[in-house]
Amino acid sequence: MSQTATPPAVELIGLKAAYGRIEVVHGIDLVVPAESIVAILGPNGAGKTTTLKVIDGRHPTSEGCVHIAGRHVSGATPDALARAGVCSVPEGRGIFPNLTVAENLWLMTQSRLNLSYDEVQTRAYARFPILGERRRQLAGTMSGGQQQMLAMARAVVTDPALLLVDELSMGLAPLIVKDLYDILGQLSADGMAVLMVEQFARTALAIADFAALMVHGEITAVGQPADLDDAVAEAYLGANA
Ligand code: ATP
Repeated sequence: MSQTATPPAVELIGLKAAYGRIEVVHGIDLVVPAESIVAILGPNGAGKTTTLKVIDGRHPTSEGCVHIAGRHVSGATPDALARAGVCSVPEGRGIFPNLTVAENLWLMTQSRLNLSYDEVQTRAYARFPILGERRRQLAGTMSGGQQQMLAMARAVVTDPALLLVDELSMGLAPLIVKDLYDILGQLSADGMAVLMVEQFARTALAIADFAALMVHGEITAVGQPADLDDAVAEAYLGANA
């Protein structure tokens, strides 16, 4: 009896990206296996955010390709990629601070993803009960951790196969970051693949199945978290590692 292997959630092959004539991602290869958590670590300006933007269609590929669940998707629009199961929690969260929690969620029903408001709220509040308690609160008046939960809720109500998370820990206290990482762990246990980028290496390595170190637009080391300790320490010169 033959078994079909599940294709990786994402595969990047020789991926290059540029702003104008300046290339910032120099032909990287990376595999995110289905249902796993992969962290791309690296200092400021390494090209991590650009890589995520190429995967979710916000930035073009200049060379190489992106495969999502075994399908070549380079050049696909963000909407088409969302329908293919790719969702992002962007750097800076991307929520609307002057709208309530419920209104932020309602906006998700205005996308082309065919979700009802009831469905969106039920899913969001089941995963993040605190958001249910604060549904009438203006998002901008919540704590940073709760705002990040709202950003995650907006992404995961669509039940994506792949969640891209940019700098989840930015500006948050370590205990809150740990809670948010625990939620990423649960999402992965429920079958979602997660690709996250982080500068704060050690916290990310604690939950990742695999990690890649990105420096100056190149992936300089890949492996299981324990194998990357030395490379990460060297890249950060001990600052955040
Ligand atoms: P950070 O954590 O600072 O966002 P990063 O690893 O995510 O770092 P990128 O944001 O991908 O890095 O940036 C990679 C390079 O591309 C940097 O040199 C950055 O200055 C440059 N860059 C990023 N966005 C733009 C843009 N919109 N226009 C021009 N250059 C850009």
